[in-house]
Amino acid sequence: MKLKHLEKLLENLEGFSPPSPLLEQYSTPAPLAARLLFHAAMRGDIVGKRVCDLGCGTGVLGIGAALLGARDVIAVEIDRDVVTIARRNALKVGVEIHFFQADVKKPEIHAITGLCDTVVMNPPFGAQQLHADRPFLDAAVTIAPVTYGIFNAGSRSFIGSYLTGRAEIDEVICSLLPIRRMFAFHREEVREIPVEILVLRTKVQPGNQPANP
Ligand code: SAH
Repeated sequence: MKLKHLEKLLENLEGFSPPSPLLEQYSTPAPLAARLLFHAAMRGDIVGKRVCDLGCGTGVLGIGAALLGARDVIAVEIDRDVVTIARRNALKVGVEIHFFQADVKKPEIHAITGLCDTVVMNPPFGAQQLHADRPFLDAAVTIAPVTYGIFNAGSRSFIGSYLTGRAEIDEVICSLLPIRRMFAFHREEVREIPVEILVLRTKVQPGNQPANP
């Protein structure tokens, strides 16, 4: 599948309605999602792989991974109503995804996802709830040996030190995330936030991680 074709399919997916500001529900725009997924596919981490989408929202990343040829996609989202939207989206493009309504903070997350080959995620940046991205990092590096995640630009040094001894940042891809006016506290019609796609490689066997120091 060509990049433009994937973008088009992802662009037509149903969005959040209405999005929760507290849960930082922003859909990854199709061009950024397609870029992350193509990059991961090029590195051999999507086709034929078991992929986990943490905080899947309306399913953009997980659905894109399935369209690119992932063998299995497990998608986890805390908001039940959003899981319903994501299920409709998967049905619309004709891919099968194993959706679960669950909180990534809970230890049961590992029983739900099992071990995977790759994690893809666009976690909350922690703008509404401080450190909301940490449970996503904790879970990701224990679920799969490699994670492709979208983070605020400039968070790489924090993330690198937060994951010391557990994972390392293998690559950083800079991009822009256009955010349309969605919430009352947004002042501009569209605001472009600089972001980084970080590729995290787990240092020890996933599922057998030392506790965060
Ligand atoms: N991955 C989607 C959505 C990104 S927005 C995309 O790329 O478009 C972040 C998502 O994480 C939201 O859907 C939000 O509801 C979900 N989320 C926030 N906290 C969570 C938690 N503790 N456990 C699971 N999902 C969570």
